Amino acid sequence: TTSILWFRRDLRLGDHPALLAAAAAADEVVPLFVLDPALLRSAGARAGRLRASLTALRDDLDGALVIRTGDPAEVVPDLAAEVGADEVHVTVETTPYGRRRDERVAARLGAVGARLVPTGSPYAAGPGTVRTAQGGPYRVFTPFSRAWRAQGWPAPANPADVAWRTGVPGEPLDGPDEPDDAGERAALKRWKAFLETELTSYGIDRDRPDLDATSRMSVPLKYGEVHPRTLLADLAPRRSPATATSVDRFVTELAWREFYADVLWHDPESAWHDWRDELRGMPYDDEPGLVEAWRAGRTGYPFVDAGMRQLLAEGWMHNRLRMVTASFLVKDLHTWWPVGARHFLEHLLDGDLASNNHGWQWVAGTGTDAAPYFRVFNPVTQGLRFDPDGDYVRRWVPELRHLSGAAVHEPWRHDDGYDRGYAERVVDHADERRDALARLAVVKGRP
Ligand code: FAD
Repeated sequence: TTSILWFRRDLRLGDHPALLAAAAAADEVVPLFVLDPALLRSAGARAGRLRASLTALRDDLDGALVIRTGDPAEVVPDLAAEVGADEVHVTVETTPYGRRRDERVAARLGAVGARLVPTGSPYAAGPGTVRTAQGGPYRVFTPFSRAWRAQGWPAPANPADVAWRTGVPGEPLDGPDEPDDAGERAALKRWKAFLETELTSYGIDRDRPDLDATSRMSVPLKYGEVHPRTLLADLAPRRSPATATSVDRFVTELAWREFYADVLWHDPESAWHDWRDELRGMPYDDEPGLVEAWRAGRTGYPFVDAGMRQLLAEGWMHNRLRMVTASFLVKDLHTWWPVGARHFLEHLLDGDLASNNHGWQWVAGTGTDAAPYFRVFNPVTQGLRFDPDGDYVRRWVPELRHLSGAAVHEPWRHDDGYDRGYAERVVDHADERRDALARLAVVKGRP
């Protein structure tokens, strides 16, 4: 007998419940990945990263991974018929597109006498499973996170003993020969290094973009190169009086990822619409020139520009900068948050609908337990506080490298500040802050 394991956001072999289910169901398993043009069109920078991850997975499978391009509702049933599989195993998908796609695939599989078998999820607790006492969804993070911890999660799945079927024809993969830092092995290596070195100070240093003190697991988590349960299981025994703050903090960050996925599962509309009505009618501007300066990292605010340039160069941005740059677009440039969310999704290698768009709504004051709109980040004091020696700005903004220490955050205070061609400020923060608050007052109906 043969089953198919259809890989999606779970590009690994360890701690993989759907893989165990596929192996238990049949003598042989066909490993499949479908390059879905509908998804690839919006994948932006992630298309290349996906190919690198698939290359690593194919190597780990000694070449058995079958790659096919097309609409999964056709490709998957065709392959099932071709290899005589009666079960197609998948990790549950909970994004709006993934859910619709899986319904279509399941219906088409029925027509060829096969069925779709979903097991596990990309989360420690599957979206929709953490419920209030009344059985409803949580709408605020802290009670969700408390319930999520109390509910717990299964231990990581054992390694699977799988007989992979080889020789099933597929397409060549247009990926790198050596997928450097992509794939399961690279992810686990990075994770172990983080546990050994940065974890202890994570609780204190995680907000400092100059220190590179975070795990950078968002990219491996995005592709499922590692399961969050693996991370949680590795963290638990490391909790000691010295590391408790850091471990708890890390678990809380993973809980945000789980919370936002849960919010999206209950309310798919929340991806692109204000989650809360409170700011409905907020007057936003549409100033393409200013938005373009923001995208390119030429706003004249060094901390903002450094973040935006890191995004373009690395496909990743430190969380502090995601908040500061998003706030700048929404509250200094008065732009509706989806404009920024789209730009982030185009460039972020970890770009994820739930975490990104709800992160944007948190900043914009329209999200679940969002920062209130009137709390406007000051791009200069944020820089002085979280990049105190200016190293982060100098790394990304060469036109300011001649300024030493914290001087990079305020080139306008130095005679030679603009000597190397750094952009003048496109707006005045103090004025725009007042403007943002005036707009809020209009929405709230206050004079
Ligand atoms: P660490 O500090 O090491 O955190 C560990 C893990 O916890 C992360 O890998 C991530 O999975 C999770 N996590 C941490 N912070 C958050 C958070 N605020 N929300 C949800 N999960 C979190 N994260 C994404 O994975 N994809 C996105 O597209 C994304 N877009 C964002 C957009 C905005 C406007 C904001 C404010 C945040 C966004 N985040 C997003 C959350 C966060 O910035 C990144 O997860 C984090 O910077 C990734 O770096 P890390 O893995 O080194 O983080």
